[in-house]
Amino acid sequence: MTTQKEEPVRTIAVLTSGGDAQGMNAAVRAVVRTALERGARVFAIREGYEGMVDGGERIQAADWDSVGGILHQGGTVIGSARSQRFRTHEGRLQAAENLVRAGIDSLVVIGGDGSLTGADMLRREWTSLVEELVGSGRLEEGEADRRPLSLVGLVGSIDNDMFGTDMTIGTDTALHRITEAVDAISSTAASHQRTFVVEVMGRHCGYLALMGAISTGASWVLIPENPPDVDDWEATMCARLKAGREAGRRDSIVIVAEGARDRHGQPITAGHVRDVLHERLGEDVRITILGHVQRGGAPSAFDRYMSTMLGYAAVEELLSSPPGGEAQLIGMKDNRVTRQPLMQCVEQTHKVAERVNAGDFAGARKLRGTRFESNLRTLRTIVRALPHPPTPGQTRLNIALIHSGGPAPGMNTAVRASLRLALDQGHRVLAIRNGFRGFVEGDFREMEWMSVNGWASRGGAELGTNRKVPADRELYTIARHIEAQKIDAILMIGGWSGYRAIHKLRSERERFPAFDIPMICMPTSINNNLAGSEISIGSDTALNNIVGAVDKIKQSAVASKRCFVVEVMGRKCGFLALLGGLATGAERVYIHEEGVTLADLQRDLTAMIEGFRQGKRLGLVVRAAEANPLYTTPFMYALFEEEGGDLFDVRQAILGHIQQGGDPSPYDRILATRFAAECVGYLIRKAQAATPEAAFIGVQEGRVVITPIDDLPRLMDMENERPRDQWWRALAPIARLLAQPGPKAG
Ligand code: ADP
Repeated sequence: MTTQKEEPVRTIAVLTSGGDAQGMNAAVRAVVRTALERGARVFAIREGYEGMVDGGERIQAADWDSVGGILHQGGTVIGSARSQRFRTHEGRLQAAENLVRAGIDSLVVIGGDGSLTGADMLRREWTSLVEELVGSGRLEEGEADRRPLSLVGLVGSIDNDMFGTDMTIGTDTALHRITEAVDAISSTAASHQRTFVVEVMGRHCGYLALMGAISTGASWVLIPENPPDVDDWEATMCARLKAGREAGRRDSIVIVAEGARDRHGQPITAGHVRDVLHERLGEDVRITILGHVQRGGAPSAFDRYMSTMLGYAAVEELLSSPPGGEAQLIGMKDNRVTRQPLMQCVEQTHKVAERVNAGDFAGARKLRGTRFESNLRTLRTIVRALPHPPTPGQTRLNIALIHSGGPAPGMNTAVRASLRLALDQGHRVLAIRNGFRGFVEGDFREMEWMSVNGWASRGGAELGTNRKVPADRELYTIARHIEAQKIDAILMIGGWSGYRAIHKLRSERERFPAFDIPMICMPTSINNNLAGSEISIGSDTALNNIVGAVDKIKQSAVASKRCFVVEVMGRKCGFLALLGGLATGAERVYIHEEGVTLADLQRDLTAMIEGFRQGKRLGLVVRAAEANPLYTTPFMYALFEEEGGDLFDVRQAILGHIQQGGDPSPYDRILATRFAAECVGYLIRKAQAATPEAAFIGVQEGRVVITPIDDLPRLMDMENERPRDQWWRALAPIARLLAQPGPKAG
């Protein structure tokens, strides 16, 4: 099968190997559908390398529909296995024979470092394996395809232990399981003033334990990369937990990574921690080993769209590079897809384990990346029972915290972390309640350390929030309050109205010198519609709410041919709609940025009707609430219902405020904590240096970026209240490509 004589059609096989991970299905789906759309042939190999060695039925041609309806499923539908045979020469020889017979010249392997190492070995041996097969007569000369084998790897592992990618497929979902479990345990622990020791997975990597602790407000954490630095670490741990109890902490949770060890390399087990706490503190201690729960359940929104992007990029990489080149690892740096030489990543990964084994823990942490270290530093502060006392003679700043905008999950997490990080550096924190309305009314409260206990995981906004933007005489009142309370700096944790309010204060500083103090905005909005940050706190939780709701809606339609029109929030920013659509496999997403025309509706309707004619059972259309003022959700519902006739029926679902609710996702909790550390640091620096700047913070291409507030009008599309630059718009073609077969797929 060739398109041109000299350029045979690429034949790609995809397999999942090693430990299963949630999100593998999304990657497989994206690989298969992208390959088909690009005119390649594609096979799915079942049961990892076992299937490759077995051949036959286990190497199956995949078509568009064979990967339908799998996005929401945990694990891997094509199966995974560990294969001893593949480790042998004879096993790989057999595997090569099976691949050649199926005409396969390219592999996408989704697995951990072991699986990827095995794949690269096969790639390097390929030519000699084919020669051997011909030489021994197992393959005829004519059967042997002399093209080299191309390989791309995606990392499927809940441990997040791989160099070359910020997140591995499954890690975010595993963190969801960990936070759900620890949140649940916290409430029972608090009721009985009990201590729980929770063991989490991660092999020799402490990522899940560290991030689990940051996300839940655990009291102590033990990880491989950061063993206690003294021999009698048990005494330190007991003293800290005791101090926490005395300070009023009712729940005590110790998170132990399964690979935790002391500084001599001896494993620290959950059982040992329990015995110590029981004997030395006389506590009632229970152990929970989370185990395979962490691998289970539906993949999170992030794992679905990240894996989709990775699968898409894997095929693009194969098709755009010469056959047999150096194998690449497709990974993720914040929200961007990256590619790096695969074996270099594997080697770097092994170095971390080597460092840990050699007792060079600082070296191991360094290899894990700078963020690992800074997260650890932040965690050390926020888990304390009490802040360090102020240094005698130091300047004690009064830092005000305020919310503004719609409630967003993660607001409380951000307040907790900001408060503790500021108090620990010797400063005072003043909470302003009920947003700028409270500021005008003088609704202040000084906050202390334990007042935020339990806030890491709590949804909503304990301090209160609204969309008030102060004007006219209110500015005068606010200025008077700033002077009376001696406020030195303001941290605004909120959305668009908060950005406008801070911009307003800043621009009025000539009239009101009280406003000439450092101020910073932390992006907190489910809509993700704020300039200066690729992502805002709360939007990941909202996406998960959308994905969870749409999963249920789709399940409700098992018995009938049905099309759903689902309306999601986001105002004129289509982030939730597009990413929600990508993560749920919507056929079509309507957003304000792209507009909606009658011609679009006509075309989409025709495609939908055609799909149902060919046997489709379920259709899904996602529409941003303000995509178009006239082509509303009820209008689209009526249009599809009328035109669908007897072929399918239509239901509409307006998800509404369910999207703003619920406890924050681990991603939002981690982001809130990261921003809190940066914002508090910024305010302290600026206040002490007497450089009263005002700014907003964000992440851009993996880095924290602070932008002057004066740039706001330049970076925002003020009319539509969304950033001019929206990185995620680049995903629209991918969403479209994966949702419906185009003409090429046949
Ligand atoms: P993971 O991919 O999650 O790290 P494993 O290390 O168990 O999981 O690897 C999965 C499979 O990959 C193994 O069962 C084996 O078939 C194959 N594999 C791992 N390491 C190698 C290797 N060095 N050479 C050949 N095959 C390997």
